[in-house]
Amino acid sequence: MKEVLTCYMCDSIATTKEHVPPKCLFPEKKDIGNDKYRLHLMTVPSCEEHNNTKSDDDEFLMVSLAGILGNNSIGYIHSQGKVLRAIRRSSYKLLKKVFLNSKNVKLEIKDNKFVDIIIGTPDVLRLKKSFEHIAYGIYYYHFNKRFDGIVKIFMDFIYYSKKNHQNYKDIIRDKVNFESKDKEKFGENKDVFYYQFLDEDEYGLLTLKLCFYGRIEVYAVFAKSDFELPGGMYLMNKLIDNGMKVIVKEDNTTYEFN
Ligand SMILES: [Zn+2]
Repeated sequence: MKEVLTCYMCDSIATTKEHVPPKCLFPEKKDIGNDKYRLHLMTVPSCEEHNNTKSDDDEFLMVSLAGILGNNSIGYIHSQGKVLRAIRRSSYKLLKKVFLNSKNVKLEIKDNKFVDIIIGTPDVLRLKKSFEHIAYGIYYYHFNKRFDGIVKIFMDFIYYSKKNHQNYKDIIRDKVNFESKDKEKFGENKDVFYYQFLDEDEYGLLTLKLCFYGRIEVYAVFAKSDFELPGGMYLMNKLIDNGMKVIVKEDNTTYEFN
C-alpha cells in the first residue's frame, strides 16, 4: 500500500510537492550555461494551500535576496539574469513590492555613470513569512515529520535603525555562528543554499541556520506551542524595553543596551 503523505505545514493530505527553498533561487542553464545548481533540489509534500509555487511569494523572495548587496558571485549572476528578467517583466512593480515606502534614486557607480535603484524599507513581514515556510519545509525534509509549534525568524541582513534591535541581532548572530561552527552543512548546492541545525538548548529551543548565496543568513528558532520565555530572559527583555541600561556578556563579548 502506498503511504499517504501529509503536508509540511498542516495536517492535510499532500497533493503536490514544494521546493525548499523555492526553485527560482537556484540559477538555471540559460544564465550560467549549465544546470548544476538545479540538481538534487529539496522537495517536501504539500497541500494545495501551502504550495507557494503558484503564488508570487517565491518571486518576491528571489528579488529580495538577489538584490541584497554583498552576495557571492552566483547570487550576482543570478540577479543579472533571472531576477532582472522578472523585474523587467513586471515593469519594476516587483521591486516596488519588495520595499515599502520605496523611492527611486540615481546612484553613481563610476565616472558619471548612473544607475536607477530603488531604496526603502524591506517588506520585513512578508520576508519573514517566506522564511517561515522555508524553515518548516527544511524541518520536514530533515526530520521527515512536520514541526508542530511556532517558528521565530531572525534575518541577519536587515539593518535596524534602533540600536537595541541591532544589538539583539548581534547577540543572536554571534551565538549561532559560534554554535554552528562544527555542525554539518546540508545542501547539494551550498554556494546557493545550505542549512545547519544546532543542538537543542536548555529551554528546548531548536535553532536552524539558513544561508543563501554564501552570505545572507537567516536564523529560525523552533519552539513548542506552549513555550514560555524563562523568567530571567523575560525580565531582561522587559528592562531593555523600558529603557534600562543592561549589559549582556556572552563568550567574552559585551553587548550594551540603552
Ligand atoms: Zn498544508
